[in-house]
Amino acid sequence: MDARYAALFEPVRLGPKVLPNRFYQVPHASAFGAARPRAHAAFRAIKAEGGWGAVCTDYAPVSPDSDESPFVASDCWSEQDMTRLGMIAQAVHQHGALAGIELYHGGSSSINGESRLPAVAPNQRRGMIHGGSMARDLDQRDFARITADFVTAAVRARDVGFDIVYIYGAHGYLMTQMLSPVTNERTDGYGGSLANRARFQRETLEAVRHAVGDDVAIAVRTAIGPGRGLPGIDTQEMAQVIELLDPLVDLWDVNVGDWPEDSGTSRYFPEGHQLPVVREIRSATAKPIVGVGRFTSPDVMAAAIRSGTLDIIGAARPAIADPFLPTKIREGRQDEIRECTGSNICILREEKLRQIGCFQNPTAGEEFRRGWHPEQVPPAADPSTTVLVVGAGAAGMECAITLARRGFEGVHLVEASASLGGRLSWMRTLPGLGDWGRVIDHRLVALSRLKAVSVVTGRRLSVDDVLDYGAQVVVVAAGSSWEAGGVQPVPWPQIHGAEFALTPEAVMAGARPAAGHVVVYDAEGYVVGPGMAELLRSEGFTVSLVTPHPVVSPVSDGTLEGAFLRQHLHDLGISMHTDVVLLEVATNAVQGSTGVGDSWTLDRLTGVVLVTQQRSERSLYDELMARPQDLADAGITAVHLIGDALAPRLPSEAVFDGHRLAREIDQPEPMAPAAWTRER
Ligand code: ADP
Repeated sequence: MDARYAALFEPVRLGPKVLPNRFYQVPHASAFGAARPRAHAAFRAIKAEGGWGAVCTDYAPVSPDSDESPFVASDCWSEQDMTRLGMIAQAVHQHGALAGIELYHGGSSSINGESRLPAVAPNQRRGMIHGGSMARDLDQRDFARITADFVTAAVRARDVGFDIVYIYGAHGYLMTQMLSPVTNERTDGYGGSLANRARFQRETLEAVRHAVGDDVAIAVRTAIGPGRGLPGIDTQEMAQVIELLDPLVDLWDVNVGDWPEDSGTSRYFPEGHQLPVVREIRSATAKPIVGVGRFTSPDVMAAAIRSGTLDIIGAARPAIADPFLPTKIREGRQDEIRECTGSNICILREEKLRQIGCFQNPTAGEEFRRGWHPEQVPPAADPSTTVLVVGAGAAGMECAITLARRGFEGVHLVEASASLGGRLSWMRTLPGLGDWGRVIDHRLVALSRLKAVSVVTGRRLSVDDVLDYGAQVVVVAAGSSWEAGGVQPVPWPQIHGAEFALTPEAVMAGARPAAGHVVVYDAEGYVVGPGMAELLRSEGFTVSLVTPHPVVSPVSDGTLEGAFLRQHLHDLGISMHTDVVLLEVATNAVQGSTGVGDSWTLDRLTGVVLVTQQRSERSLYDELMARPQDLADAGITAVHLIGDALAPRLPSEAVFDGHRLAREIDQPEPMAPAAWTRER
């Protein structure tokens, strides 16, 4: 092990427990929760196997009036929940890690879709609204009831093997709602002074400590940071709360701001972005502090420990991207770390699609249902089968690498461009998307070591080239291109005059309108439209970003960055026009229609960029499949289509496609995924 990183592998005492090293997978949502316990246990256990000293569940509501449905949490309010939760603790223990559970009450942010109970708030008047429903006021009996629920849950958690029990006090949930004078306007003993506002949390901690404090470590997750989603509590006041509660706590899990800031994307938050704020409360406690900040660099981690700001390196997203991050550092293989891109596609997938996934790590979330391991792949049935992969974007690179890892001896990765990476090669140069390039960089390192992969660049293969290549299996990963003809997604009609407009690829190849006012029209609603707008604005153009969606970049709301993005575009002076369907582009004007049917125009323009939709490049595949006799004569037994060439999707899905096909390529019908275990 590199001596510079030795401190990362020191044990840390957490009350009655000992954390075996300083790597800690903090609690984070997975969408497995109570719904898919085996998938959940396997998802957590792989982190323990990869060397994380502690691994935690997602949020575990202790009361039915903190029911998260339709979202998925690790419900912990009944004895019935405990077998399932115990599976997680046992799975984590098998690899020598501590298991943590995040006991939680959402207060007025609870949705209660299933329980139909009203949410509870310190004050109804300052509670949140969900789908037209308000919370009810907490009464005195509720405080005793919820404290008792925390105690019961903590005892049960201890009994099924958890080592660390959280009282969740961050991210604006009940404990935070009680602390904040904005949400807590109570005039009884639970409101007013800081000590009163902290009373419910203190009473709950005292009761939990009394019940299980000798057996488990008690952690509090708290959030600091002025004006960051915690109205009314500044950092100094939070330091006083920490001092007040400190005797009752074994581990402080400190977050900065609300969830979008805490899980800040790489577009707006660099690695370690929380450290300066955490430093402000360091003197409030001598107990261990775990903190996050998308840590992937062992140097940054070691410096955070050396400086005394943190005692423990927390991670959610970096542990998803590379469950074996600690092992790789310990073994001096840090150049093999799959570094988190900070895209928050994990959060988008988990929250919106209910199946977590990762841009970097295609095995994330697939541990149980597909039996995938991030560091192990099944051996090739016939290693001598020669495979030609056409196109070295994310899909082709991942496919070729996984085939070689499986032992295929002859893998050929052929790319038309001068360099590897496909569309990510230019997307990574858009403002803020630099860390997306980690998907390419990680794979370039892997390819440099895998002797079985012959990489050819600067060669565009025709159908005849493929037939002549000498491969037995062909994988077409030719990607996609942006629509140039004005076609946009249904229900919006084709735009007339699209020939006057530029595509994103043309802009990235250097084409520019004359100086002046440019319209960027974004029907996709993700990163490329805003990226074009920001790029052109940085070059001095006046930019109007026009979208048929009700907000700019709705997909970015799923990655928690929509508010940051829109603020950023506004601050750059980019004007935003939502709910406008573009119908026509002329030489110096655009015309469209608003959501309520009014005509809409912008004139005196010097150019238009159309970001409408991508279209798959599948002609090579279709033409090969149309020549079965030629394929047979060439000795080609199978042709497969993956990635954007099959369908342009979230960028994580190209990596997933390449990986899945490579794992299953020697099965009878590899284009159709092998059946996965459905946990119902
Ligand atoms: P994906 O996300 O599915 O990997 P990309 O668009 O990122 O798709 O990458 C596809 C890559 O395939 C591009 O780099 C493109 O240059 C390359 N490509 C497309 N057609 C051919 C071809 N006929 N021969 C070689 N490379 C090709």
